[in-house]
Amino acid sequence: MERLATARCDHCGYVEEKLVIGGCTAAGFSGERWPCLCFSCRRIVSALINRKTLACSCGSTEIEPYGSISRESSSRQLFGFGDRAIEDVSYVCPRCGTIAMRFEPEAILSD
Ligand SMILES: [Zn+2]
Ligand SMILES: [Zn+2]
Repeated sequence: MERLATARCDHCGYVEEKLVIGGCTAAGFSGERWPCLCFSCRRIVSALINRKTLACSCGSTEIEPYGSISRESSSRQLFGFGDRAIEDVSYVCPRCGTIAMRFEPEAILSD
């Protein structure tokens, strides 16, 4: 299943809409997508995470997936995949570097 998320920074106003999370079965795009911070674009991109090398559509491999489950948390989980989770907490903004950005779920897509 594929879901859409919006990322929004309360500090600088950065917004990234329609981030694809989860399975994508469209021709040529088979794989699981997950929001990642691209240090080259300085924005959030939805990258294929089941590839050996993570890469942004800009060609850069300097990208880092958001969220990790390896810590105790009581926060509400918005998205989860494998050992990663996006929770209802603030994350670092790719624009301003402040931990003031949140993910919000958008409409659920059906297959
Ligand atoms: Zn920001
Ligand atoms: Zn990029």
